Amino acid sequence: MNRFVVVGAGPAGLSVALQLARDGHAVALVEASRQFSRQFRGEALMPCGIEALAHLGLANLHRQLPHRSLAGWSVWVEGRQLFHVAEPMGSLQPCTLVAQEALLEHLLELAQQQPRFRWLPGQAVKRLLQRDGRISGVELAGGEALEADLVIGCDGRGSLLRRQAGLTLQASGVGLELLWFKLPGPLPAELDGSFNTLLAGGQIGSACIGARGELQLAWLLQADQDTPPAESQLWPERLAQLLPPPFAAVLHKRAGELSTPQRVSVQVGMASSWHTPGLLLLGDAAHPMSPVRAQGINMALRDGVVAGQLLSRADSAETLDAAAAQVEQQRRPEIRRMQALQSQEARQGHLVGHNAVLRHSLARLAPLLGPVTRGIWRQRQGPLREGLAGALPQRTNSISW
Ligand SMILES: Cc1cc2nc3c(=O)[nH]c(=O)nc-3n(C[C@H](O)[C@H](O)[C@H](O)COP(=O)(O)OP(=O)(O)OC[C@H]3O[C@@H](n4cnc5c(N)ncnc54)[C@H](O)[C@@H]3O)c2cc1C
Repeated sequence: MNRFVVVGAGPAGLSVALQLARDGHAVALVEASRQFSRQFRGEALMPCGIEALAHLGLANLHRQLPHRSLAGWSVWVEGRQLFHVAEPMGSLQPCTLVAQEALLEHLLELAQQQPRFRWLPGQAVKRLLQRDGRISGVELAGGEALEADLVIGCDGRGSLLRRQAGLTLQASGVGLELLWFKLPGPLPAELDGSFNTLLAGGQIGSACIGARGELQLAWLLQADQDTPPAESQLWPERLAQLLPPPFAAVLHKRAGELSTPQRVSVQVGMASSWHTPGLLLLGDAAHPMSPVRAQGINMALRDGVVAGQLLSRADSAETLDAAAAQVEQQRRPEIRRMQALQSQEARQGHLVGHNAVLRHSLARLAPLLGPVTRGIWRQRQGPLREGLAGALPQRTNSISW
């Protein structure tokens, strides 16, 4: 039996903690926040994320939680639909929006059924502890020290553990700044339940009905843009100019109910190494993902599955460190590929979004060019939905927990 300290109870931390606790290891899961509900949480589970849940014996979990199957994907240019692709796009499962806090709460409940699992909410890790050149645990903000045979850093994109261990983040591309708005449900039933990418007037955004039936709107901030302050009354009108007509009509009618936006900063990258003796990084801590085509939760769950399986078999400091290296080796190719596809998608959005001539031509010739662009777009979606073949270990049982 090993002692693991897992830092951060997002999808990466909970999936690895659950498996290790089920395998009989002593697991302390430390989470800075006291509750799972946040102003913003990504919700899209791709078939590859659902596959990861199946590895945890939870193949049907997403259907038991507040969820909504995505109807499809649409791209709108200057208010005209360029193309639409219906889900499930050849996959066995459609992309499904799941209330993330409900998913995390469920994983936690399962972990809490394990006798050697310890849950420490509302406690931030302050620093890593070292002994004989190896990380040997963490110190919490309250002063308590937790000793570990391996610390697993799942503390998200701004990872303190990554920085303290001196594992540098190699940033890729330029960072993004988003404003995230919500309009509470219920919404008219006839509104399209697809994920809509919106390109109009030099602005890029998105609109989607979330797992709990609320309208989620994203607005990409641009350095050269005159952006109203977050509390401005101008937002409903500015957003309506970007939205397909049925969504714009709803926003006009219910402008007063639009939330003040949350600002989300996104820097994509990969840690130079995901491990150092006594420490392994997983999820966004190892490789902060872009929100483009919703990969982060899925990749975090897949990291957790692989790590759980490889670490569980180790029985000494040496074999734990070797297993940590193996986790990185096994997971890096899929992450690299997904980040490359995400940045390709972002570059194309940027090109169309900021080129007025191209945009207006695409809008004017949508009936002609729509099917061509749809074909090109669709080709890229396979791995973004299914992950890389063989990236997860073979499933050895079909136990439903
Ligand atoms: C705008 C936007 C939209 C997105 N939409 C989607 C989507 O639809 N689908 C999708 O798959 N992905 C999406 N993502 C990405 C996804 O949210 C992340 O990639 C995913 O949550 C990463 O999981 P994680 O477990 O690695 O980290 P996180 O979910 O970030 O969890 C990290 C946890 O660590 C805790 N923590 C941090 N520091 C400490 C500390 N010192 N001590 C203790 N605890 C600590 C935090 O409180 C947090 O709970 C989106 C991202 C953005 C920015």
